[in-house]
Amino acid sequence: MESDESFRDSIATIDKQGKRVWIYAQKPFGKLYTLRTYASYIYLVIFFSLPFIKINGDPFFLFNIMEGKFVLFTMVFWPQDFFLFGLGMMIFVLFVALFTVVFGRVFCGWACPQTIFLEMIFRKIEYWIEGDASYQKKLNNGPWTKEKIRKKITKNVLFFLASFVIANTFLSYIIGIDKLFHIMTEPIQNHLGGFIAIIAFTGIFYGVYVRFREQVCLVVCPYGRLQGVLLDRDSVVVAYDYKRGEQRGKFHKNEKRSLGDCIDCHQCVKVCPTGIDIRNGTQLECVNCTACIDVCNHMMESVGLPKNLIRYD
Ligand code: SF4
Ligand code: SF4
Repeated sequence: MESDESFRDSIATIDKQGKRVWIYAQKPFGKLYTLRTYASYIYLVIFFSLPFIKINGDPFFLFNIMEGKFVLFTMVFWPQDFFLFGLGMMIFVLFVALFTVVFGRVFCGWACPQTIFLEMIFRKIEYWIEGDASYQKKLNNGPWTKEKIRKKITKNVLFFLASFVIANTFLSYIIGIDKLFHIMTEPIQNHLGGFIAIIAFTGIFYGVYVRFREQVCLVVCPYGRLQGVLLDRDSVVVAYDYKRGEQRGKFHKNEKRSLGDCIDCHQCVKVCPTGIDIRNGTQLECVNCTACIDVCNHMMESVGLPKNLIRYD
């Protein structure tokens, strides 16, 4: 059978006219998603509490670009120590490159702030208010009823508040929690620059999570763009077992299956937050969120076929 390679001609988030295609990702569930949720709780607690931790008066981390003061694990670096900082950064970049060669994009799914904020904070708020993907689509395409207005206002207010908290936390990593406290409690004219920074950061985060979303991973993030050269044949990736899955075909109860194990249910595409079909192979858009692994395992279980047709491999 001639394989359909038309997927190579387009990407899921842009239509033929070049307009953005909004991805309505189905709500993920399953073992890996639960594990990621717990991991994200630990991550978020650390992220939001670190700026408050001080040892001998120095913060744990500080990246004060304006004053040229950097604190890493309570060790202070000034501009004259910059070569040490630079060396540390080079080692870090080398570590990231080697880590990616071996473990692929595991970082993106489990530790990247963009993925964690989007999947574990903003999308959860959205599912809670607007429901799963089909309800969101229906709501967006429907008329402006009272219910729609109420839901949209609630969602956007919560998105804005979450962005405000994230923006302030990021700022506290740059200027320190004490300065941030002064900006928040003293008259605006005393800290006009800081006040503008808070508004700008909040606006950027709000814009990213309300609209830009997966585009950050697809077109902005340099780490994402470098995947093509960082991965090799032995890197760990989220992969579809092509040999086992093909030739794909619908499942019919009580019928002896002569096809491959993929029952062509499209669930893996529906849960994907970047809108790709992992059955087409490793793609730059895959952020290793594992949602397709979970849902495919669920489908395999429900039709009595072995799990892990999609897996880390
Ligand atoms: S979820 Fe699994 S069975 Fe369903 S289409 Fe995707 S790979 Fe095939
Ligand atoms: S292909 Fe699977 S792991 Fe990759 S982004 Fe889509 S759902 Fe997540």
